[in-house]
Amino acid sequence: MINELTNLLMQEGAAEVGFSWVTPPPEYANLTNAVTIAVRLSDAVIDTVSKGPTHTYFHHYRTVNAFLDRLSLTAGLFLQKHGGQYVCVPASQSIEGFSGLFSHKEAAVKAGLGTIGRSALYLSDNFGPRVRLATVLTDLDLSAGFRPLSENNPCDGCSACVTACPAMAISGHSFSEKGIHILDRSACSTHMKQAYQKIGRGVVCGICVSICPAGKINKQKTIAR
Ligand code: SF4
Ligand code: SF4
Repeated sequence: MINELTNLLMQEGAAEVGFSWVTPPPEYANLTNAVTIAVRLSDAVIDTVSKGPTHTYFHHYRTVNAFLDRLSLTAGLFLQKHGGQYVCVPASQSIEGFSGLFSHKEAAVKAGLGTIGRSALYLSDNFGPRVRLATVLTDLDLSAGFRPLSENNPCDGCSACVTACPAMAISGHSFSEKGIHILDRSACSTHMKQAYQKIGRGVVCGICVSICPAGKINKQKTIAR
């Protein structure tokens, strides 16, 4: 079933698929298994936002989110067909403050697909921050697809996002330092609303995605293959 679902999602356009055991939101307490779906962002689009967002980037961001929601439903219907319950976590939805129903990043890291960078962005081992994520929660046992946590640390010796952030929202601390806020989400959000109001009413920026060498290095690797 794991291979069948992975192949289905990859054929539909997913770049990566992973599986993990998670602590779900209380209302879905029995759905402790998660499917993570990653979709690659366009390098051509991301490369143009190193100084700030563009209208094309905003459109791409929304299109990829909608595509992820469709892939999530595809996965959910597959799981249901195999006797499971499922909930698709929206690709992009804030419910309380800056948080959604469930952290896509948490599931992706637990699935062994990547890590969290100094920028608080999820960094895929293969594509750096140039992916967006979706999660499907289910009560089906997906443990046959579990893999070890990533040991990749692209932030070692890097602070490019700290320097580039126009809001000075990235502290420079490592995600692994417990009890430290690595990103001032309020400063990030306020800057976007003030500086980029004319592009998607200030809900995207993309600078820390664009400048991160973890995405650029892996782009070169992809081309070299
Ligand atoms: S820019 Fe450097 S420090 Fe920031 S998330 Fe990417 S690799 Fe890590
Ligand atoms: S999205 Fe923009 S403002 Fe927010 S942390 Fe990244 S670079 Fe800074």
